[in-house]
Amino acid sequence: MAEIHFERWQQVARFHNPLKGGELDEQSIEVRLDPLLDHQSVFPLMLKGKADALFPPTDWEYVEQCSEKSKGQCFLCDGKWRQRTPRYSEKILSEGYLVKNDVVLFPNLFPLAAYHAVVMVGNKHCRHLDDFPASTIKDSFAITLEFMRRCYQEDPGAIHFTINANYLFPAGASVMHPHLQILGSPFPGTHERALLQRSRDYFEKHGTSYWLDLLAEEKRLQKRWIGEIAGSQWFTAYSPVGANEVNAIMPNASHFFEWGDAELEGMAQGLAKALSAYAGLNLSTFNFSCFSAPLNSESKEFCCLLRLVNRQNMVPNYRADDYYFQKLLGGELIVTSPEDLASFIRQYF
Ligand SMILES: [Zn+2]
Repeated sequence: MAEIHFERWQQVARFHNPLKGGELDEQSIEVRLDPLLDHQSVFPLMLKGKADALFPPTDWEYVEQCSEKSKGQCFLCDGKWRQRTPRYSEKILSEGYLVKNDVVLFPNLFPLAAYHAVVMVGNKHCRHLDDFPASTIKDSFAITLEFMRRCYQEDPGAIHFTINANYLFPAGASVMHPHLQILGSPFPGTHERALLQRSRDYFEKHGTSYWLDLLAEEKRLQKRWIGEIAGSQWFTAYSPVGANEVNAIMPNASHFFEWGDAELEGMAQGLAKALSAYAGLNLSTFNFSCFSAPLNSESKEFCCLLRLVNRQNMVPNYRADDYYFQKLLGGELIVTSPEDLASFIRQYF
């Protein structure tokens, strides 16, 4: 096992502060570097305990109004998906779609990749984050894996898949109804490519998997460790790429075809608990992406990885949480320290 370096450094900003009667103020800013990808997150220490200033609390009345307004037109609700969603050709899915209990998979009408499916996550049009049942998440991931198998059977070049979610408008969703987005293509996407490349570099240099080394280190340190459920291990990101980032790693699966019931169960229960913890923080939206090595070979250097982050809460005319700093400079802001976040989420596991 190679040692993982959690690099960080401090900067100080000095200015005369009108909020302190014009006296000379010093504010410390911590900069953290991701051990694998080197991306930077900054933690202005004056923001500690002031998350509400940047993420105003959810307006639940507004959520209810949006839900009522959009439910009537929803193309998924009340079985309308049967008439109104596109269908795959017989070559990929004989029925054109996949169904498991109240979960349905069908093609995206506006695909971003050769294989771009949407999964309706249950019949319910609008959910609070503590109302995503593990069984519904499990069904959603199970039919996603089935879809990948069918695509790969038909097109062995389709080896790069990600499982993604946008929940609610501030997270980029165009429909309110909970859903997943599955992307599959012969090429890795930008972030996926960086993860795979850096994991290979690490393996060549140290002869071990970065992800297994990271798990061992996070488990030893405990400060960002959340817990272990079936085939999944959970912790908070040292240098997050989004607000309140939670990570899960599947230590025994380098790609999606290596998932068994333990990985499905771990993802389903873990995600349901992590989302409940987000609800406990009064959050209402999220994005996640789940990454895999290419589907056609075992990759000792990689383990399937989930990145879960929250986005701006549902309030009318919300302010974007993503501005030049994230979008163009590739940085991220830490509002709640990953260590405090882990100790909060641990209560839900
Ligand atoms: Zn709906």
